[in-house]
Amino acid sequence: MTIPVKKFISQKILKKEVLESGLCTGCGACVGLCPYQVIYHDRTVQLHACDLENGKCYDYCPRTSTDLNKLRNLLFDAGDMSPEIGAMKGYYFSRATNPQLRENVQHGGTVTALMELALLEGLIDSAIISSPDREFGQSGLVVKDKVELRKNAGSKFTVSPTVAVFNQLEGTKDAGNIGVVATACQALALAKMKLKSVKEDRGKIDQLKLVIGLYCGWAFAAQKFNDLMGQNDIALESISGMDIPAGKNSLEIYTATGTKSFPLSDMQECIRNACHYCLDSTAEYADISVGAARFGDNWEEMRHWNQMIVRTQKGRDLIDLAIKRGVLEVKEAPTESLLQLKKAAVEKKKAALQNIIRKSGSAKNLLYLDCHDPVVQMFLAKQISNKKSR
Ligand SMILES: Cc1cc2nc3c(=O)[nH]c(=O)nc-3n(C[C@H](O)[C@H](O)[C@H](O)COP(=O)(O)OP(=O)(O)OC[C@H]3O[C@@H](n4cnc5c(N)ncnc54)[C@H](O)[C@@H]3O)c2cc1C
Ligand code: SF4
Ligand code: SF4
Repeated sequence: MTIPVKKFISQKILKKEVLESGLCTGCGACVGLCPYQVIYHDRTVQLHACDLENGKCYDYCPRTSTDLNKLRNLLFDAGDMSPEIGAMKGYYFSRATNPQLRENVQHGGTVTALMELALLEGLIDSAIISSPDREFGQSGLVVKDKVELRKNAGSKFTVSPTVAVFNQLEGTKDAGNIGVVATACQALALAKMKLKSVKEDRGKIDQLKLVIGLYCGWAFAAQKFNDLMGQNDIALESISGMDIPAGKNSLEIYTATGTKSFPLSDMQECIRNACHYCLDSTAEYADISVGAARFGDNWEEMRHWNQMIVRTQKGRDLIDLAIKRGVLEVKEAPTESLLQLKKAAVEKKKAALQNIIRKSGSAKNLLYLDCHDPVVQMFLAKQISNKKSR
């Protein structure tokens, strides 16, 4: 008697392992590939069942199993790797030199300045960024000029399904070469596409020339964040920006009528569930990663600077060009700053691993992570030895 082989229906497994397990980051990588899956607000919804066995939705999702080592070997030089923050060719403080550009940006405007330069120099023809969407909170947006780039600068801490827009560019020749601004989970999804792309997608993946990553501690679930704003009489359309200034331990919301502060402890309940299982705080799978420069005593000054990790040769070439064209002011960051960054990155990895083990019930089942991955193993071993020494 032949035993029937159980079919691996990608969409079904994605639903079980990711959507129903609270691991979905809302990155949008499984959306726009077929008519069956959509993003509604920041939730991924399966409209119709699909029985494909090798679905791209499963393969591209950053919360399904991946050979991360293979990915690291594909994208980065082995000598640049560190377990805490991934590949690093250089680590700097930076800001845009143009004061007009800096007016609307989150910190130093490094991200907007780099995307603008890449467009201007013809390195990319389209940039995919995130834009506030009145109905849905955040959505990805394709822009081709500096006006739209600058208009959409600044951070919104709710999830943006940016990668869905990349998927929807399928077959669009006029998109040309593409650059994407991505949080860590979005950058991982794009990297997985490079590793696992099926033949029909290869052209589009080849068009992806630049990924600028954003450091990411967590993101807010849109509904919870919106409810909290409502309870505090803050109209969503009145919000012009938000930040967590160094040393303040609070989230500041900027509106036309002034600034409102929320203790970070009150914001915990708004954090998207999936973020508690995320190990990456520095967008390890990007060409360049950019975050806030929280360092030293002069926080008000540093607030208008970024810290930046250059990860790939492509990233290095773009930074060299930005310096040559006078677009970016770049200085070597002090070693203490790098040590602080690595310490924070380790804390996030350890907390996420702990949450994963708590969820699965066993250190042998790390959900979307491979127990044998050398980086995962290293932090797992640290956690076990910490437990023993307590
Ligand atoms: C959800 C989230 C969490 C973050 N957490 C941290 C953190 O813990 N520590 C830290 O140092 N930095 C964090 N950052 C990054 C930080 O807020 C800045 O984006 C970064 O310092 C770059 O600053 P900038 O002045 O160069 O950006 P800008 O030049 O202003 O450009 C910002 C770019 O980010 C895009 N963007 C805005 N919101 C989103 C979003 N939700 N998803 C995807 N893209 C978006 C914009 O479209 C724009 O292109 C986070 C960002 C986000 C979006
Ligand atoms: S994490 Fe991204 S790819 Fe995975 S199910 Fe959620 S939206 Fe889709
Ligand atoms: S914390 Fe991780 S999962 Fe959450 S939005 Fe940031 S990168 Fe994505």
